[in-house]
Amino acid sequence: MAFTEPRIRTLLAQAARNAEYGKNAAAESTYRQILSEAPDTAEAWLGLAGVVGGATEKRAAFERALELAPDLPAAIAGLARLDGRPVPPEVEAALAAAEAEKNPPEPEPEIRTDMVEESTAPHVGEASEVLFCYRHPDRMTALRCYSCGRPICGSCAVKTPVGYICPQCRREAEDAFFNSRPLDYLVAALVSLTISLLAGYLIVHYLRGGFLFFFLIFFFGGAIGGAIGRITKRAIGGRRGRYLPGLVVAMMILGVAIPAWPIILAVLMGNLGGLLSLIGPAIYLFVAGGAAYWQMR
Ligand SMILES: [Zn+2]
Ligand SMILES: [Zn+2]
Repeated sequence: MAFTEPRIRTLLAQAARNAEYGKNAAAESTYRQILSEAPDTAEAWLGLAGVVGGATEKRAAFERALELAPDLPAAIAGLARLDGRPVPPEVEAALAAAEAEKNPPEPEPEIRTDMVEESTAPHVGEASEVLFCYRHPDRMTALRCYSCGRPICGSCAVKTPVGYICPQCRREAEDAFFNSRPLDYLVAALVSLTISLLAGYLIVHYLRGGFLFFFLIFFFGGAIGGAIGRITKRAIGGRRGRYLPGLVVAMMILGVAIPAWPIILAVLMGNLGGLLSLIGPAIYLFVAGGAAYWQMR
């Protein structure tokens, strides 16, 4: 699929946001995704240079950005800093100017939807344009989506660190973030169920009750869950899916429920003594499930 210009801009903004938040791996993956579709995107090479680890890779990315945009100040400065050379003053000045343009004094951070909706006439002589939400043509607004540029009203706009975004662009950005393939769900289910059954069997059959056990479960439950999450994620090539974390937790619950089924059945039949031996597995699921969920995100 060829990337459209707005799509590239959405992805660039998303990657920049991740980089800003220190999520370099996520930013790198998005930059590479852009470059695989649009290898001539200088901004993506520049962004990539900022988030890759090795100096060689950084240099290569800066150089590629400069080949595409020979006077990109951030690339000139980045390469100079990488080499330990002083940054030319005119480049510094260009960078400062770009920074000032990027962060203008915030005009009106509060969205007052009630006021926007109530006012019937545009304020005469005001500099800001009168716009109407593209999703609610009867609502006036002064906001635009930073990604597609279309006007959006206060109830449609979603605030992000780089500006307001419309629901459609947000969905697109999320779809780019969730890059899993249908087969990943099957692989993730099989891998996580296999390990979860093994862990569940050991916990249900060999480590019943006892204070020491509860203590150990608190300590190792997180490690076990984290390992299940990591192994599963590796098995699907590190891709992310909207429902993958939930799927893995469901498999972990199955991994305990299947070996514990005779006990669960006995409890359901009224033998409440079995409840005691389910406390440990329940704690395990709580601690390990949380860790696995977090790993899969
Ligand atoms: Zn938009
Ligand atoms: Zn709206």
